[in-house]
Amino acid sequence: MTESPRRILWFRRDLRINDHPALLAAGENHDVVGLFVLDPTLLRDAGGPRTVFLLRCLAALDAAIGGKLLVITGDPVVVVPAVAAAVAADEVHISADYMPYGRKRDDRVRDALATSGVALVATGSPYAVAPGRVRKPDGSNYSVFTPYFGGWTEHGYRGPAGSGSGIVWADIDGVFDPAGFPDRVLPADLLEHQLSGVPNANLSTVAELPVAGEAAAAATWKEFLAGPITDYHDDRNRPDHEGTSRLSPYLKWGCIHPRTLLADVKGLPGTGPASYRREIAWREFFADLVFHKPESLKWSLNPIIDDLPWDTGTVADQHFEAWKQGRTGFPYIDAAMRQLLTQGWMHNRLRMSVGSFLVKDLHLRWQLGAAHFMDYLVDGDIASNNQGWLWVAGGGPQASPFFRIFHPITQGLKFDPDGDYVRKFVPELADIPGAMIHTPWDLPGGPPNGYPMPIIDHQAEREETLRRWAARPPKP
Ligand code: FAD
Repeated sequence: MTESPRRILWFRRDLRINDHPALLAAGENHDVVGLFVLDPTLLRDAGGPRTVFLLRCLAALDAAIGGKLLVITGDPVVVVPAVAAAVAADEVHISADYMPYGRKRDDRVRDALATSGVALVATGSPYAVAPGRVRKPDGSNYSVFTPYFGGWTEHGYRGPAGSGSGIVWADIDGVFDPAGFPDRVLPADLLEHQLSGVPNANLSTVAELPVAGEAAAAATWKEFLAGPITDYHDDRNRPDHEGTSRLSPYLKWGCIHPRTLLADVKGLPGTGPASYRREIAWREFFADLVFHKPESLKWSLNPIIDDLPWDTGTVADQHFEAWKQGRTGFPYIDAAMRQLLTQGWMHNRLRMSVGSFLVKDLHLRWQLGAAHFMDYLVDGDIASNNQGWLWVAGGGPQASPFFRIFHPITQGLKFDPDGDYVRKFVPELADIPGAMIHTPWDLPGGPPNGYPMPIIDHQAEREETLRRWAARPPKP
């Protein structure tokens, strides 16, 4: 045992032991108690796939630290000070959270800890450059990506923080009275808990979720670095290729840090690594936007978008249901929506196409789509998701113009030219060869196996969208 008192590392979106500055800070000359709080407020909206993946990540983390992770269900404002008292900790270490809920929660926990003289110490964050750091020369924040990217590059970021293998994990069972914590989830029960305690059902994807945890993240990254990254610049647009890194769920829970990724791509030749670095910067840019404009999690920053006439009522409800179930009659759109239902993930190009379809073909509010995504995405990240939807809907400072409308057929022909992506997720159409799969209504006898006819006429709805846009109220 090292010098007492012990310190707590309160894990949140940093479920790893390597390249973890907050953990290294906590472990300097002190034993560390690893704590995770299952906060019902966050779990309520987390969706089954993301919750299950989280619980599996916790099980992996627990195994990595010799079964010494303490997992307790409850309000962190109550749980964290109670654990600090129980293990006689004088400091609680965290990676800073920059999202609105996390910032308020941490302020409340900091105040609660202070009443008993315990410090909440933040080191690092889930980003290479923390939100709020990249500023224009006049001190304001960037609202457009390209100049932000320039500022982000100029700001620079640290290299990886090193291994956490030297951390001494406190033997909690020796010091901790379990009777005081009836809401403790024993590590062995984490996988059981996922089946009984997940509030938001959507569990259809559980079998297809990626392997959880830090080691799986590292292996996924290694595999991507060994090959696909070379062609990433072009392949990232092809849902029919395995061209992207699939690291988003791991980045969401911090099983790997973007610093590690950026260090590994540094100096690699070619357009692939450069494009990858840029995509990591998009994630940071969106977090920065939400940090400065938290209201954008609910509303368009361009209020005209929310004020446009949006469809409601029975037909709108039916359209929304068909979109969610992948039964719009447009194979490219339906394949993507079914990938979401079965894998809890969707390719970026498709996220844009199905978003455009919801907003500009079905005339439904982007907020409906964003909420459905958050229910199912294993990588659901409040900043990337909402800003992604604002981009699609034309409602953000950095957005595709409202009048840019993705064509649900030609997008498929361009990015899934042989129909392999559709064939994978829409079994009713699997026997249709080549690109014909994108227009099954042209087959003699129409679409096979009960696959629906298109629920809308794209050309007509495109014109309707442009009509509504042209009739928008003047800017206030
Ligand atoms: P790669 O192409 O390998 O990219 C590497 C990493 O860069 C990603 O893991 C991600 O962290 C980041 N990145 C890549 N593209 C983007 C982007 N456009 N915006 C922000 N970060 C990006 N990403 C999420 O992580 N969570 C979400 O909830 C989410 N919702 C989205 C909703 C919409 C409507 C749109 C258009 C995009 C959304 N994205 C979201 C961004 C993007 O689709 C995913 O990050 C990407 O598909 C994840 O796959 P990957 O890890 O293989 O990506």
